[in-house]
Amino acid sequence: MPRIHTDDPLTAALHQKIDNSITRPVVTPLYQNSAFTADSPYFYTRLNNPNCEELEQVVACFEEASHGITVTTGMAAISLASRLLAPGDHVVLNSLIYGCTYKFFQRLSRSLNLKITVLDLSQPASLQKIPADVRMVFFETPTNPFLKSISISAVAQRAKALNPSSLIVVDNTWATPMFQKPLQHGADISLYSATKYFSGHSDVMGGVVVVDRQDLAEQLRDERFYSGAILDPHSAWLIRRSMQTFALRMQSHQDSTSLLAKWLESLPQITRVYQPHVDGRQLTGYGGILFCDLRQDLVERYTEFSQALRLFDTGTAMACVTSMIAQPYSGSHASMSADEKAEMGLGKELIRLCFGLENIEDLKRDIQNALEKIDTTQIEHRLPQEVSSVSE
Ligand code: PLP
Repeated sequence: MPRIHTDDPLTAALHQKIDNSITRPVVTPLYQNSAFTADSPYFYTRLNNPNCEELEQVVACFEEASHGITVTTGMAAISLASRLLAPGDHVVLNSLIYGCTYKFFQRLSRSLNLKITVLDLSQPASLQKIPADVRMVFFETPTNPFLKSISISAVAQRAKALNPSSLIVVDNTWATPMFQKPLQHGADISLYSATKYFSGHSDVMGGVVVVDRQDLAEQLRDERFYSGAILDPHSAWLIRRSMQTFALRMQSHQDSTSLLAKWLESLPQITRVYQPHVDGRQLTGYGGILFCDLRQDLVERYTEFSQALRLFDTGTAMACVTSMIAQPYSGSHASMSADEKAEMGLGKELIRLCFGLENIEDLKRDIQNALEKIDTTQIEHRLPQEVSSVSE
């Protein structure tokens, strides 16, 4: 750890460095090795590696927490947290959640004989439905999809009153530690897909689990060692490099998104824009991912719309420097059945827009052109004007 005198997590994160006191490089180089000598504190890269350790310190800095634990992907982070469960345990899942997380717990419940209760935790009344034998509550806030808010402290208070040893786990990938620090609101575990905003460039995968409790950190590190889930040093080095611009990127995502959300609301082809509630206490800002509903008569033309966009790539990637578009129904939640999607209110009209760092006037023009291409009512509306301008 360098000698840094600052209360600002951003300054501290920028200057986190593992001990390079012999070679003294300005940035930590890539430790592309699996083995260390027997007297090294790192022992073996499956246990620990300087690049992973430095990235862990950076993420912990942003979260103002004591421990970060890096793993191969966001799903590996979820899987690592789930290793704290025992057969027969009762897990509460929020109903609005990333499709693969839902599938993961559904599959795990078969092998571990878990009890799973699915609740809409954004509704205060649902807190009364948390079962008395709850062992883990797992959710994202703002939720994916629809960006609804869940009070971390209210969930934690209720679950801990029922079972003091229950674990509150928040997937904080979308809010990021820049805008939400779940551990400060009563969560035991905050976890991330580092593939998203931490990497920020759609070129590397990773996951991070963050805890303040020493006992949990030790248990999770042991589980990581024996399951072989540690992030590889090269990916850790790349993500650590991206973290140097994390705060700047998040600020830019936030600025663009708040302006574009207002603008989207004014478009005749969009019937609803979903934004999170930034309350200034739990959620102090928000990044670049929004949802909106496409007008019903345009829903079947989504593919045409997405292909007409020039600045938005399609696919499941998101939260990077270039903009992305996706249809959760066929993308992030494709692994869920039609009935499961209907139950969570997820239809084909919902689109997800992730704004990158492009000029927002360019993004507006791109969206408007693509929407006008699929909106035949718009064409019919405009045709007489176009004809008259040609004849003039
Ligand atoms: N959590 C959230 C909120 C996600 O959106 C995703 C992926 O999209 C994951 C976890 C899984 O992350 P990864 O793809 O890095 O495994």
